[in-house]
Amino acid sequence: MEVILVPAFADNYIYVLRDAASGKVGVVDPGEAAPVQAELERRGWSLTHIFLTHHHDDHIGGAAELKARHRASVVGARADAHRIPGLDVALGDGDRTVFGEQTARVFAVPGHTSGHIAFWFEAAETLFSGDTLFSLGCGRLFEGTPAQMWESLQSLRALTDQTRVYCGHEYTQSNGRFALTVDPANAALHRRMEEVAALRERNQPTIPTTVGMERRTNPFLRADDPGVQAAIGMAGAPAVEVFAELRRRKDHFRG
Ligand SMILES: [Zn+2]
Repeated sequence: MEVILVPAFADNYIYVLRDAASGKVGVVDPGEAAPVQAELERRGWSLTHIFLTHHHDDHIGGAAELKARHRASVVGARADAHRIPGLDVALGDGDRTVFGEQTARVFAVPGHTSGHIAFWFEAAETLFSGDTLFSLGCGRLFEGTPAQMWESLQSLRALTDQTRVYCGHEYTQSNGRFALTVDPANAALHRRMEEVAALRERNQPTIPTTVGMERRTNPFLRADDPGVQAAIGMAGAPAVEVFAELRRRKDHFRG
């Protein structure tokens, strides 16, 4: 499965997918239609599927126009059916959805929003995590509790190490500046930040990351790590409390 990054707005990523075996073409979280349409025209492709992780406008804003233009099928969360216009395929936790020769497993990942889902394409080991899991960070808790988000992140953390993670925003460098304040002795994090700095200097994306990389470097996946706990003065505390404290500090971080 081919994945093409389409930058949108200031720091969003929209993803165009193509399953080579079937020729099906999908898009994930088209916050605006124009850059997606331009990419499709450049390649001579027509859209068959529109995958939506959550209802925020910067993720669905272009969906209606693209659906009308291509007669594509809109795939999203059943829990968000009331606030995703034009939803055709409504899915919940554990459901599978077919895209050409590929199958995606759906994870309900509440926290950023109550209806947020993630798509894991099993054979391609490719995850679209929306605004739940970012590289070196996680989404703000607009509609969920720390306990919900921690559980959601644990389900994504359990995916295969090699799984490529495509998230909704290019936030890696600023996330990493915060990560260094709560996990300062993590050598893998320091190495990753050097890599990220080099990419950003050349204006290159830091996405995709991998589940393995995030498990080693993302503090929001490491609330049960003794090093992170010690660094924030919460050695031995329940992971969910550590996670809540990390999220609270990140909300107030000015780096
Ligand atoms: Zn969002």
